[in-house]
Amino acid sequence: MTTGKVKGIIANLVTVVVDGAVAQNEICYLSVGKTRLMAEVIKITGENVFVQVFESTRGLKVGDTVEFTGHMLEVTLGPGLLSKKYDGLQNDLDKLTGVFLQRGEYNYPLDEGALWKFTPIAKEGDKVQAADWLGEVDENHQPHKIMVPFVFEGEYTVKSIVKAGEYKVNDTIAVLTDAEGKEHNVTMIQKWPVKKAILAYKSKPRPFKLLETGVRTIDTANPICEGGTGFIPGPFGTGKTVLQHAISKQAEADIVIIAACGERANEVVETFTEFPELDDPHTGRKLMERTIIIANTSNMPVASREASVYTSMTIAEYYRSMGLRVLLMADSTSRWAQALREMSNRLEELPGQDAFPMDLSAIIGAFYARAGYVYLNNGSTGSVTFLGTVSPAGGNLKEPVTEGTKKVARCFYALEQNRADRKRYPAVNPIDSYSKYLEYPEFEEYISKRINNSWIGLVNEMKTYLQRGKEIQEQINILGDDGVPVDYHEEFWKSELIDFIILQQDAFDKIDAVCPMERQEYMLNLVMDMCHKDYDFDNFLDVNEYFKKIINICKQMNYCEFKSADFNNYQTKLDELLKEKQIA
Ligand code: ADP
Ligand code: MG
Repeated sequence: MTTGKVKGIIANLVTVVVDGAVAQNEICYLSVGKTRLMAEVIKITGENVFVQVFESTRGLKVGDTVEFTGHMLEVTLGPGLLSKKYDGLQNDLDKLTGVFLQRGEYNYPLDEGALWKFTPIAKEGDKVQAADWLGEVDENHQPHKIMVPFVFEGEYTVKSIVKAGEYKVNDTIAVLTDAEGKEHNVTMIQKWPVKKAILAYKSKPRPFKLLETGVRTIDTANPICEGGTGFIPGPFGTGKTVLQHAISKQAEADIVIIAACGERANEVVETFTEFPELDDPHTGRKLMERTIIIANTSNMPVASREASVYTSMTIAEYYRSMGLRVLLMADSTSRWAQALREMSNRLEELPGQDAFPMDLSAIIGAFYARAGYVYLNNGSTGSVTFLGTVSPAGGNLKEPVTEGTKKVARCFYALEQNRADRKRYPAVNPIDSYSKYLEYPEFEEYISKRINNSWIGLVNEMKTYLQRGKEIQEQINILGDDGVPVDYHEEFWKSELIDFIILQQDAFDKIDAVCPMERQEYMLNLVMDMCHKDYDFDNFLDVNEYFKKIINICKQMNYCEFKSADFNNYQTKLDELLKEKQIA
């Protein structure tokens, strides 16, 4: 193996003079006395190699030795990942000896002693290739497939496979022979470099399947697809955490992965303490059973923050290869971009906008492109749906990270301070937010089967009402209530009706917290029917009064069981009220 000597140190960027070949992104260890610090090669110029150290370089001196490992930053994949909390380098944070991981302390991410109940899927003589399923273990009630290692190239033959029974992660469960007749032992564990996408699938069509989240402002107004991408800017106190919890709990996903990357320390702590408490409405058990948290402890430097988003994406792709639906949420991708910026600046690279690296938008794009809906080699499907938050400084949506993300993410949920201040939760601005999936013919086809073929038209019409309502509100603000015609007041209230009934949703109400698609369909039809009617008003006070009554009844309906007597009761009241003002 190649070794080297430290030549220069700028914070966690270290220049090393090497005596042999090293590869881009190769991992190496720097010795500081008895402590070994992990680092990654980020730039090579002749015999000078730049490495970014994942930890504090305190005490490191010129002349200290460096050993190169010959491999890139890898993640260890196998049963036992679920319900774990890791840092960006996949250290198991529950195995900490102290409050913090000591410098140079790295621990094994999986439990080597645990026994897993294995059921074979492949048989002796089967022809297999990378990512094919050899068998299955039950991991917290999820079918965890043991796959042919992703690094295997070409076709292999199953020489032998163990019988159903209990095995440890390092036990050989199958022997495969390659084309040359060489035998390879396969265990339940495999490793994969985090910065490389796992491409073990047959095809990756554009996402088309609605991912139901039970949140109306998403599903009805700006739906996200299974395998889709979205981003949420997150000003403090606007309901980011509430929304994130709602989506994690309710979305149609098998596995939830949370990447808490370098957000304010108290928010990372929040994730750690609150997530394990969440109940899982799908199973009735704890959500944490099918969740993995990748977090950066606040004492870790930038480089591990950069690693954490890749680690979480790689684990997501691993579960996708098992035919599962994975939901990956990263909070916040801005901190990740800042890590890229710090390294780029230390490398004295030519800076791009706001001193971010020139290729920032390409880096963001390549990362988002790893999400997706895939057909596996055996015809099953799997998905990684990715939702990232951005924390633009000063709420400026024109800064490079937000701009770069906007180019690649297909959905945008604009959490807005103004709406949050007015207690209109979820504070997603319906006009600034968008979902590009509404324009996909594949999605339209899917939705026309799942709901009906006039649905998307109705959704767009709803948005037109909202837009019009906003314009009128601005006019009223300038000209005063008397300054605009009564018709305008009516139009304004129609948009308010949509806002109050469809968009606003109480995440803490027993019934309204989760709104199934069937109910969403009913509600949108109801509200749009009311919008389509012509009413007869004499003055704007009359309009106010009348619509406030309607909104009141509809809100009460939101909190009623869909088919209960209560619900019908409100429906009757509403019908009477509507008749009163309607011109035949
Ligand atoms: P952030 O994480 O953006 O700082 P939080 O998610 O903690 O903000 O939300 C702040 C507060 O806003 C919550 O404590 C809650 O009272 C309120 N809130 C946010 N979303 C909703 C919602 N959908 N329904 C009811 N209350 C909400
Ligand atoms: Mg929060």
